[in-house]
Amino acid sequence: MMKGAVPHITDAIGNTPIVKLHRVTEGLAADIYVKCEFLNPGGSHKDRVAGNMIRRAEEAGLSPGGTIIEATSGNTGFSLALQAAVRGYKCVFVMPDKMSQEKVDSLRALGARVVVTPTAVEPEDPRSYYSVAKRLTEEIPNNFYANQYHNPSNPEAHVLSTGPEIWEQCGEDLDVFVAGMGTGGTISGCGQVLKEKKPGIKLVGVDPVGSLYYDFVKTGRMTKAFAYKVEGIGEDFLPSTMNLDVLDDVVRVDDKECFLMTRELVRLEGLYVGGSSGATVAGAIKYAKASGKKENILVLAADGAQKYLSKIFNDNWMRANGFLADVPGLGTVRDMLRGKSSNVVKASPDMSVNEVAGTLKSLGISQLPVLDGTQLMGIVHEVDLLRHLVSGEGTADSPIRDLIESDYATVSPDTKIELLQGVLNDAKVALVLEDNLLTGLVTKIDLISYLADRAMHPASVAPIPAPE
Ligand code: PMP
Repeated sequence: MMKGAVPHITDAIGNTPIVKLHRVTEGLAADIYVKCEFLNPGGSHKDRVAGNMIRRAEEAGLSPGGTIIEATSGNTGFSLALQAAVRGYKCVFVMPDKMSQEKVDSLRALGARVVVTPTAVEPEDPRSYYSVAKRLTEEIPNNFYANQYHNPSNPEAHVLSTGPEIWEQCGEDLDVFVAGMGTGGTISGCGQVLKEKKPGIKLVGVDPVGSLYYDFVKTGRMTKAFAYKVEGIGEDFLPSTMNLDVLDDVVRVDDKECFLMTRELVRLEGLYVGGSSGATVAGAIKYAKASGKKENILVLAADGAQKYLSKIFNDNWMRANGFLADVPGLGTVRDMLRGKSSNVVKASPDMSVNEVAGTLKSLGISQLPVLDGTQLMGIVHEVDLLRHLVSGEGTADSPIRDLIESDYATVSPDTKIELLQGVLNDAKVALVLEDNLLTGLVTKIDLISYLADRAMHPASVAPIPAPE
């Protein structure tokens, strides 16, 4: 071996630099730093995960010549394909159809087979990418299903590699660690190590509007997930690789703020990062603004910009999706709630079935949000009351506490109406949260009357600006 060389490209994984942000953080008391995981040979933090998963599989008997199978949103696939090229494996990947074409092409470039599946189906559906991957494992002989959502070697990679490396680089100076949450491997693994080293470190997860992590952390309820565009973070189920107990806080960001921040990180800081990095920095800035402290915040920037050139960095795509300021679109939830009282009628968990039924009847509505103080617990719907009374198990005097259900999604005032349509396809109601406080409730009929009103009064629609 020549001096200074490493045997394989996979030996160059890790030891990524940490860089301070300047322009996007102007005016903040905190300093924000970025751990540049996009500088790994395979372009993301998943290089560490793929290496550890294959190492563990080899310890359990996997040998070169076999086939690696994964249901992946792209980065883990690329990192597995890179390891496969170096170690002599075949690869088959199953990907949801919302993924960038570049991601699919880059996997194929490394010699992998890619099967594309529809995004808009439940995980249990036989067409879902989880189901298809599972079927392939039954059909292909001599395979290893990496299964990053349930493989303990995923978080373990961060316990063994990323976490100790961050501690080595930052030590006691580190106050807050912020990461996006997909499989949860990063935040759970790094979080475990950092908390062991310095129990006072705050761990903050960033979750996109549409994913269910945020609501689950805040209320313990599995609400309805809905589609969003940022790739790699957020889930519609709870992977076993996610340990939410390590989290101190979770911050929510929407697609538009993720993508505008991604563009700023590239343009103003020279960091050539992808959408989830924009999301995570946007989340860290929100956290820093709320805390107001002088502290050191480290953000993990997972992957690079290259894979998103035709999306986040393409003005036409950004405009078509309403992410650039000059698109009027159908407005936002805020527009819809304008003129309505922000005093939402609520129930408390101790109210009786009878009392709630009386309120529903007098207001002519079908459901109420249930709050314990300011803490949202869920909703109670007339169907729940009916079921309770018909079952004969409870009386009209019983408290509604046990009837609270989760058939709702939460949105913010900035959620676009186009998105809300999709939300209300899946959930009974959308609850509007602003700084964790409930400020509104939107049902299908509210949406219909808002859209009908716009159609009747087109003058209220903002004019489309002239092209530049
Ligand atoms: N960002 C990107 C771009 C990703 O691909 C992923 C992995 N899904 C994440 C963030 C989240 O990492 P983890 O799966 O470790 O939670």
